[in-house]
Amino acid sequence: MYSQSKLLFERAQQLIPGGVNSPVRAFKSVGGTPVFMKHAKGAYLYDVDDNRYIDYINSWGPMILGHAYEPVVKAIQEYATYSTSFGAPTELEIKVAELIISMVPNIDQVRMVNSGTEACMSALRLARGYTGRNKFIKFDGNYHGHADAFLVSAGSGVATLQIQSVPGVTQTVAQDTLTAPYNNLPAVEQLIAAHPEEIAAIIVEPVAGNMGCILPQPGFLEGLRQLCDTHGILLIFDEVMTGFRLARGGAQELFGIKADLVTFGKIIGGGMPVGAFAGPAAIMQHIAPAGKIYQAGTLSGNPIAMIAGYTMLQTLQENPVIYKQLEEKKDYLVTGLREALGGAGVVHQINSLGSMLSVHFAEYPIIDFSAASSANNELFRRFFHAMLERGVYLPPSAFESWFLSNALTQEDLDATIKATKAAMQAIT
Ligand code: PLP
Repeated sequence: MYSQSKLLFERAQQLIPGGVNSPVRAFKSVGGTPVFMKHAKGAYLYDVDDNRYIDYINSWGPMILGHAYEPVVKAIQEYATYSTSFGAPTELEIKVAELIISMVPNIDQVRMVNSGTEACMSALRLARGYTGRNKFIKFDGNYHGHADAFLVSAGSGVATLQIQSVPGVTQTVAQDTLTAPYNNLPAVEQLIAAHPEEIAAIIVEPVAGNMGCILPQPGFLEGLRQLCDTHGILLIFDEVMTGFRLARGGAQELFGIKADLVTFGKIIGGGMPVGAFAGPAAIMQHIAPAGKIYQAGTLSGNPIAMIAGYTMLQTLQENPVIYKQLEEKKDYLVTGLREALGGAGVVHQINSLGSMLSVHFAEYPIIDFSAASSANNELFRRFFHAMLERGVYLPPSAFESWFLSNALTQEDLDATIKATKAAMQAIT
């Protein structure tokens, strides 16, 4: 079934560390051979052995409208003939900024970068430069990219590979990263009390998606906002996953809570490598060359990436019904999954919001990293493979969220539920 993928993986492992260019793609914690893809269209991925999969990863979030979305493909083709990179300003960058600012609350200015990592790294530098403070708070199991400062108690691949302390991240850097359990306001208060006037920022995934999907408990985000206001700390919403996915204006719009800085990635690039950070002019004006806090990028604002993102964002801006449709699809799927898992007598928790969800095999609510880490990941491993064999492509780790695309049809959802029933019969 996977013979070509196996051959490619053997070759890849000789040439690329672990055979992949981003760790979680390697199926390390679920075992087996990662599936090498050939092409994709709408809700489906096709691998090099010509197997077809219903996709619930969607490139880890960006493909909210499905793969090879025609208007994006056409726009890329057209713009590629103008130049693949100018390294000079273009009107398109202004249009992208105008569009983002019209969609997202509480921001006046936006700086485009090339990845979510860069966005978070730059937002943190800005917060530090703006406040004149060095330390920041992040939450256990949240992932903000692979910049050194964030690789402390991180989620996503770091959690999947069970790396407690990342070699190469110096003590000097790590000591400025303070960590608290997600959804735990008293722990945050204690950190602030222990480091008066030292904390520049609190960075948070407003809905956590890198330890499975974990929702903020009522009052958690509001409490962070209040603590930040009281102590002169900047609140950074890392909306790399949630931006343009949970709502046009992301979690700020959905929860009605204002962040001081916001970071984006994934959907903002329409499937191309793009990130961004944004905020009010009073803060953003400190970024070079307007201010002295340096940040730059040879390919930042790249025209192909900008037109891909612009086209996708414009579709979302003009068709808010997409969010309703996505949520209806997710609700239908979650109901079906609950029936299938419950029917098989499997203890499980499904957390979901908008078009994000995750399944943990546990009998207690999954509200933080410690709960997610104690779930039955051996059962998840078998579930993952049983679904893959049945043509459903799930994230290869319980520490990742599933993402729905609006290309999914009723038949796809029914097929997924049917596959879940069959998978459970096979493995339990
Ligand atoms: N922040 C969050 C919430 C993410 O989920 C990710 C990636 O998954 C990042 C930051 C880093 O983004 P990138 O992989 O584009 O560097």
